[in-house]
Amino acid sequence: MSVITAYLLGLATLPVGGVAVWLLYRLFRREAWLCPYCLAWTAHTKEKPDTALYLPAILTWASVLVHGRTARHRAWRRVHEEYDIRPADPTWGFEPKRLMRAVPTDELDDEGQTYLLEWGFGSERNSRKEPVEMPYADCLFDGKRVEGDVIRHEDGSMELLVVRHSKEDPRRIPLFDGNAEPNPHIRPIGKE
Ligand SMILES: [Zn+2]
Repeated sequence: MSVITAYLLGLATLPVGGVAVWLLYRLFRREAWLCPYCLAWTAHTKEKPDTALYLPAILTWASVLVHGRTARHRAWRRVHEEYDIRPADPTWGFEPKRLMRAVPTDELDDEGQTYLLEWGFGSERNSRKEPVEMPYADCLFDGKRVEGDVIRHEDGSMELLVVRHSKEDPRRIPLFDGNAEPNPHIRPIGKE
């Protein structure tokens, strides 16, 4: 083998090495994942489903797969699909990363529902309140069409903040309880 061939071969292994390092970094970097459907961390600290556990990414991805098969997740996913509600995701685009908790509060404004977001570890632990865009939804309430923004509560339950409500109609309608059980008065549009 000439010196030049050896040199070129050596050069060719560099990108492979780079890919390997990148792959190892991706697989073992600690990550957490909040499920926007049930508002629970897929891997959470003991007895605290609202607090993230950061695991090597390969374990986090595995726990996302397992989470997708749990009864609670499937129930929440089903109601989102049946009522055509886009899940609100408080982690989307949030900086800094390393979010530990995302708790919906009762504060509402034009931009959305305020969530209390906590991130960081130890002395770097911090929190702030951020508006999260509320999904828009419509459904039938006692056969009448109602629409508005969807408010999420800490236990996962949902309410519809009704727009254009008349005096006799409620301004807020409970949609689903904390176990994704729908209010018996509501039906999805098109399923009278
Ligand atoms: Zn879920």
